[in-house]
Amino acid sequence: MARFLEYQGKEWLAKAGMPVPKGRPASTPEEARQAAEWIGGPVAVKGQVQAGGRGKAGIVKLVNTPEEAAKVASEILAKTVKGFPIHQVLIEEKLDIKKEYYCSFVVNGAREARSPMLMFSTEGGMDIEGVAEELIIKANIDPIFGLQMYDAIDICVKAGIPDKDLNKFAAFLTKLSATYKKYDCQTLEINPFVMTGNGDLVCADCKMEIDNSSVNRHPEFGIRIARDLPGEPTELDIIGWSIEETDARGTGFLMNMGYDEKSPGYVGYHPIGGGSAMMGLDALNQVGLKPANYADTSGNPVGSKIYRVAKCVLSQPNIDGYLLGGFMMANQEQWHHANAMVKVLREILPKRPGMPCVLLLCGNREDESLEIMRNGLKDMMTEDGPGKRIEIYGKEYVTDTKFIGERLLALSTEYRAEKEA
Ligand code: GDP
Ligand code: MN
Repeated sequence: MARFLEYQGKEWLAKAGMPVPKGRPASTPEEARQAAEWIGGPVAVKGQVQAGGRGKAGIVKLVNTPEEAAKVASEILAKTVKGFPIHQVLIEEKLDIKKEYYCSFVVNGAREARSPMLMFSTEGGMDIEGVAEELIIKANIDPIFGLQMYDAIDICVKAGIPDKDLNKFAAFLTKLSATYKKYDCQTLEINPFVMTGNGDLVCADCKMEIDNSSVNRHPEFGIRIARDLPGEPTELDIIGWSIEETDARGTGFLMNMGYDEKSPGYVGYHPIGGGSAMMGLDALNQVGLKPANYADTSGNPVGSKIYRVAKCVLSQPNIDGYLLGGFMMANQEQWHHANAMVKVLREILPKRPGMPCVLLLCGNREDESLEIMRNGLKDMMTEDGPGKRIEIYGKEYVTDTKFIGERLLALSTEYRAEKEA
């Protein structure tokens, strides 16, 4: 999911006509001071980070003056929450909160639903996880028409909203439902939205996630990679995305895994499918090798796509080897992989002679596929040829993670010694 920080989500909410507090982000204490001055009066200083529970983590603070805003901002900007550094704070007018409410729109994937679902509660705020189930009203929503006023009123009655406020709350929820649809959200959680002293409803927080599959419909978001990444995309992530973005024939996934090029023990990692990827990690973990990247070429991708992924995996600098990890049995025509591997290794290995390549492949057309690789690489797999550390395995080793790990370790130890000599 493409996930927005609170301040970004609130900007999109505001553009959709939803009520949000006056505010703007700041990256330095001085910017925080200026923002507080621009707002005038007491402000909230809120650390911007992709994690919930910020209130409890101490990165949501209320202050009275621009000077205090600067001081608190400098404290928050120095913190790390759940492993994420905080690069920005949101400076917002302090709300006069009478009561906090919870609502979220999510995807209800249950077979009988397959629709958006609203969860609404009068018990919003920082302790939503502790609120009793029966106090959270849930309703599936028509994916085309969205939440309608009459249903919203019904939901508000169930939630215990007093009669005089029913229209106000129902209008708020229907508008939010329309916003959820307009932006193709996967999640839109407002916890809390609050009623202020003069009776207005305002979005005090915002967690907005856009459905990856609809990012192409929203150039206005400027989302570069419609993929779940732990942080800023690396060069490999960007290349990986470009392989997928332009070619929907099977999966050709590729992303960075925190590769530290300066440390030994990393290998280019190329599993085929999710289950295989887990077994491949078992293989590596057992012998203390580490994956430089994550990849996946499943769903019967075409050879050209597999070739591009494998070439990127193998081109990573300083890796000690390469694992084509076809653990489990892939239900796809494996000769596409075989052809792709021959082409890639014929291009790469003359430049990196002796690099260990353990190729495990099984599934449909296995015998032909292994034959394609053996034949296509035969002239390189001689005792002192560039492919001298290519080893090819099939179904006999399909669950033998220990063996595959040990082979790769033995070959990569040799290779390192040879490189360092
Ligand atoms: P979270 O803990 O990451 O969900 O961060 P929130 O943005 O929800 O903030 C946590 C709590 O801080 C909210 O439940 C409110 O009680 C309080 N809070 C947040 N923003 C404001 C604000 O602008 N004014 C006031 N008075 N309280 C706020
Ligand atoms: Mn919140």
